[in-house]
Amino acid sequence: MTTHILTTDVLVLGGGAAGVNAAIAVARKGLDVILIESQGCLGGSRTATGVDTFYGFYTPGEQTRRIVGGIPWEIVQRLAKRKACFERPNTYGAGTGITYDVEQLKIVYEEMVLEAGVRLLYHTYACQVNTENHELQSVVVANKNGLTKICASHYIDTTGDADIAARAGAMFEKSDPSEMQSLSTIFFLANVDIQQAKTMNHQELARKMREANQSGAYRLPREDGSWHITPNPGVVQCNMVRVPGVDATDPFALTLAEVEGRRQAQEYARFLKEQIPGFEQSFLIATSQHIGIRETRRIIGEYVLTEEDVVRGAKFEDAIACCGAPVEDHHSGRETRWAYVQGDGYYHIPYRSLVPKQLKNVIVAGRCLSATHGAQASARNSAQCMAMGQAAGVAASICLDEKTRFSEINVKRLQEELLQQEVIL
Ligand SMILES: Cc1cc2nc3c(=O)[nH]c(=O)nc-3n(C[C@H](O)[C@H](O)[C@H](O)COP(=O)(O)OP(=O)(O)OC[C@H]3O[C@@H](n4cnc5c(N)ncnc54)[C@H](O)[C@@H]3O)c2cc1C
Repeated sequence: MTTHILTTDVLVLGGGAAGVNAAIAVARKGLDVILIESQGCLGGSRTATGVDTFYGFYTPGEQTRRIVGGIPWEIVQRLAKRKACFERPNTYGAGTGITYDVEQLKIVYEEMVLEAGVRLLYHTYACQVNTENHELQSVVVANKNGLTKICASHYIDTTGDADIAARAGAMFEKSDPSEMQSLSTIFFLANVDIQQAKTMNHQELARKMREANQSGAYRLPREDGSWHITPNPGVVQCNMVRVPGVDATDPFALTLAEVEGRRQAQEYARFLKEQIPGFEQSFLIATSQHIGIRETRRIIGEYVLTEEDVVRGAKFEDAIACCGAPVEDHHSGRETRWAYVQGDGYYHIPYRSLVPKQLKNVIVAGRCLSATHGAQASARNSAQCMAMGQAAGVAASICLDEKTRFSEINVKRLQEELLQQEVIL
């Protein structure tokens, strides 16, 4: 039984890359917004999971250029002001990344959300919905107060898993667990001799992993994982763990994945220390507080973005963000499948890919967008998730102003407002 009731203009569910940007965008329009987050910090995959590099701001390749602006770029500038980030030019794969100090990003996100006037609720889990005639009436959340009903005019689902949109009746796709992208526990090692470690390139490291597996002395499921420097001297971030075949919306499977991910992190740390020059004196200082989830539910929206759209660099009239990041499919094998964007090196994410088909007052943003498995493996990059969040937030403010549903707003107006906010379209 719910004992408390809260009301707001817009309820944002999930404070990851997408949710933070969505909430800031709504609040800056002068509306009341509540942002709920199940963990005790903002950022989701960007912080709690330990991922510390924004990809997607720049297109890969020789002729690299920045294609994401707006609030996401403001976040980067705030990090730069704190000397808490640096660019890693054109590393293999996704193009130039922006590597940051995870602890500083938590603070920057909080500063910006609170400055904008967002009502922030940590340690709060969205559980149930009450829907009438395809319109979400309220969401029940659980926290130390017990159950609270939150009633809003419009809802932005940025849970990554489309928890609320799905419960409210949105259609969605979920790959078979054997095809879903693998989960990864990120870990950090300290006391690494960086100069020495850098003498071994990526291919050589992969070869060492293969040999280690073949020797039978180690169990390393992924052989093309990588490490990179962080803003902190002697500290490196390692993205090597691979836990395949997991549907992360299944709580028991997710729990076992956390256990397996931490076990693998220990194994990779042992391998690096024993086998790779520069790591001899290293030690494990952290594993992610939440295993990294790349893919679960993808809603079926007004438009389903396809891998073909991604690869040919498709452009859409209802563009709300640009993406040049390649398809990076962490399938269950030992390597990763890559497919690059052709043409002028970027494609558009259409507004329709954020709008669930059946629901009137719910929009999604982030990795649960309406996309096929292959397209999601590109559009899920963090700069794009943040850009989608900003667009969803502005769309919600327009819905309130025009007293309409998400599928019926004036998209030209949305694009004009985004351009005024220095979004690149
Ligand atoms: C291991 C890994 C490595 C990656 N590496 C990179 C990289 O190097 N560069 C890059 O750009 N991208 C990378 N990505 C992709 C990118 O980080 C994510 O796709 C993106 O950050 C997802 O953002 P999101 O906001 O959509 O979802 P999430 O980050 O998953 O955020 C969802 C938030 O909602 C909260 N939440 C979920 N359910 C509920 C609920 N029911 N109630 C309340 N709160 C809830 C979660 O706690 C979380 O904070 C990586 C992803 C992973 C998993």
